[in-house]
Amino acid sequence: MLFPEYRPRRLRRTENIRSLVRETHLTIDDLIYPLFICEGKNIKQEIRSMPEVYRFSIDKALEEIKEATQLGIKAVLLFGIPNKKDEVGTSAYIENGIIQKAVRAIKDKFPELIVITDVCLCEYTSHGHCGIIKNGEVDNDLTLEVLAKIAVSHAKAGADIVAPSDMMDGRVGRIREALDEAGFSHVAIMSYAVKYCSAFYGPFREAAESAPKFGDRRSYQMDPANSREALREASLDIEEGADIIMVKPAMPYLDIIKMLRNEFNYPLAAYQVSGEYAMIKAAAKLGWLDEEKILWESLISIKRAGADLIITYFAKKIAKKLNEK
Ligand SMILES: [Zn+2]
Repeated sequence: MLFPEYRPRRLRRTENIRSLVRETHLTIDDLIYPLFICEGKNIKQEIRSMPEVYRFSIDKALEEIKEATQLGIKAVLLFGIPNKKDEVGTSAYIENGIIQKAVRAIKDKFPELIVITDVCLCEYTSHGHCGIIKNGEVDNDLTLEVLAKIAVSHAKAGADIVAPSDMMDGRVGRIREALDEAGFSHVAIMSYAVKYCSAFYGPFREAAESAPKFGDRRSYQMDPANSREALREASLDIEEGADIIMVKPAMPYLDIIKMLRNEFNYPLAAYQVSGEYAMIKAAAKLGWLDEEKILWESLISIKRAGADLIITYFAKKIAKKLNEK
């Protein structure tokens, strides 16, 4: 049927009609709230390139989480900023590491909250790479053993889901094996299955103090020019035991989200990264974009592309909006 019989505008006439035929919905259940946790007390330090995002000491993180849970947010993703770094990232898996302490404190106060922990080395190594360095390169297989230790230490502290973000080959399988051996077969893995080597991570590296001191991450993170490789990475992670797969960043890679959605029947997460956040914030600050509208549009686009879950620094802001509705 063609014009004038068919008129698409009929279904756009009023807000009620539009909401009746709306195809995609954003809910608070979709949101994962990332938090940076540092040592010390009474610290809530704003990150220069990420306005309204903070580094929290554990006591302050608990206050932030209380607010988030009151808004209905059900999941947090924790990144640790340790006091001590060394060549091999020891502080990533010690019993009293920053994340281990944070998970215990959070689970004690908020047992129902889903606590997801980032499993990587870059925040804990003096060189800032996501693995163990041997002969000037990140050694894949040596790194796997450390990642397994980190994941088990997080599970012991009470993490519900571990999220390896390192992009080493075989890490999901090694972590699954280590978790099962240690009695944590119930702990899920959300893998950064498709993580691009992206300049959109810039502000995060300031927040987590994790910029590499030499070279870059192109030898382990994916080339932004590749999409077929994303399918291979995701299918490997699923075969190795990933429960949830993730695409990172989100907005510049909506085609990849769509592709993975079509290809795999697994829960799919997308990470709206620090650079995406910073762009929206910066443009809004200059008065060039409407922050609230852009925020909504960017998140609904990620869902429309096929993501089930969105990790976003805007979690609290959008949760407030959704509650007002
Ligand atoms: Zn890393």
